[in-house]
This record gives sequence, C-alpha cells and structure tokens, in this order.
Amino acid sequence: MEIRILEQDKKKEAVAFLIKGAGPVFANTLRRMIVNRVPTMAIEDVEFRKNSSILYDEVIAHRLGLVPLSTDLKSYTVPAECTCKGKGCGKCRVKLILKVSGPAVVLASELKSKDPAIKPVFPKIPIAKLLKGQSLELEAFAVLGRGEEHAKWIPGHAYYKQKPVIAISEGYKNAAEIAASCPVQVYDEKNGTLSINKDNYFRCHLCNACVDVDPKHISVKEDPDEIVFVVESFGQLSCKEILLSAIDEIDARLDAFQKAFKGV
Ligand SMILES: [Zn+2]
Repeated sequence: MEIRILEQDKKKEAVAFLIKGAGPVFANTLRRMIVNRVPTMAIEDVEFRKNSSILYDEVIAHRLGLVPLSTDLKSYTVPAECTCKGKGCGKCRVKLILKVSGPAVVLASELKSKDPAIKPVFPKIPIAKLLKGQSLELEAFAVLGRGEEHAKWIPGHAYYKQKPVIAISEGYKNAAEIAASCPVQVYDEKNGTLSINKDNYFRCHLCNACVDVDPKHISVKEDPDEIVFVVESFGQLSCKEILLSAIDEIDARLDAFQKAFKGV
C-alpha cells in the first residue's frame, strides 16, 4: 500500500491523500471508523442554575452539545470504558461553567473549562442572546463519546472516490468551453490549448460535464487501483489524530475478532 498527500491546509483542518493498492473496502472501513468510532469531547449533561433568556433550557443544552471542544485523547476515556463505570470522574468528564448577565450575546468563549486542554474550538459560536436583566448560569459536563451514539461526537467529514483519470486527445477545438464547463477547475486553458491542472485534477468528481462538451476528445475514467481520500476535521482533533485513532479502532476490532476466533 502507498500513501501520498495531495493537499493539506495550513491549519491542518483538512487533508486529501491518495491510497494506492488498498481498494474501496479498506477506504470504506476507514471512513466508517472515522465517522462512527473516533471519540471526541462534547457537552453531554447541563445543570441550569439560572435561565431567564428567551430560549428553553433544552434548546440551550442542545446548542452547547454541538459546540466542538478541543479533545485530549490521551488523558480521557469514554465513560462506559472508565474505571468509574460511567458514574463520572476526573478521567472521563470535564466540568465547564458559564455565567453571563445581559445585555449580551453569550458566546462559546464564555464556557470556562476546568481543564485548559478541553475548550471550545471556535470561541465566537453564539449560544444565546440576553436582554437587559436576563441572565444565564449553568454547569456543563463534557465527556468523550462516539458518532455512532450522537452526531455531536463525529470528528469530521470523511469521504473518498476512485482517482479520476482524465485524458485529452488532440483535435479539440473548444478548449475554453471545455475548461469553463468544469465546476472544480480541473483544466487550464491558454490560447486555445487545454491542459490538466496537476494541483487540482484530484478534485474532479466525475461529473462528465467536460465530456458532454466534447465526447470525442475528452475522456474521464476512474482508476480502479487508486483512491482519493479526504478528511475534514470539525476542530476537536487534527486530521492526523483522527486517522491514527481510526486505525487504532480497526486494530482493536481485529484483535477482538482474533481473540474470539482462537477461543472457538
Ligand atoms: Zn470515570
């Protein structure tokens, strides 16, 4: 198996890479592990002390649950797998406190965490708007959880496709039209000459709009042996942490299967 990075943004929130020689079964296993099994931190329980805002407690609790929190996988465990057996302790949950009086827009940054490693990734997410005289006071507990239980714990988007193979044969007359037909700018066009943009070709999603313009000279196919895999983090974990954690989950399942099978 070979892996080659195609693109990585500076903040490391997204990565696209090529997997050669592994096939869609492996890619889909990896995708499912990322979406369902990689744990992240999210607020699960909220105790309201005061809420005179226009929003119901439940609405605010739901909004808090969806605030991405930076996640430290080394220091915390999922409550069900913790030594406290899910009762809640320092190893499996973090307390966050929020106390704001109006007039104000309550932002995620107002959530004060007991652990500086676990805090809102995007401080400007609005939670509620308070008028003069209104106030919001609450205690929230964040826990590690998995996407298979609730979408708030999903670490990011993960998707893949077969690598596009784009071929241009000589004799085309409408280079500008072909280039313009592509919604993801796969082609470069200069003075009537068409070429494939090497940094962008992998974005081709096989829509065939270019083939429709000139079916005689343009062909787009899927490479059966290579897969373009993309991970876009929601911010709790870096893309590398997401991928390594997903691989650990695959490993753990194979180990469990092996153990069970040996016992047969
Ligand atoms: Zn615990």
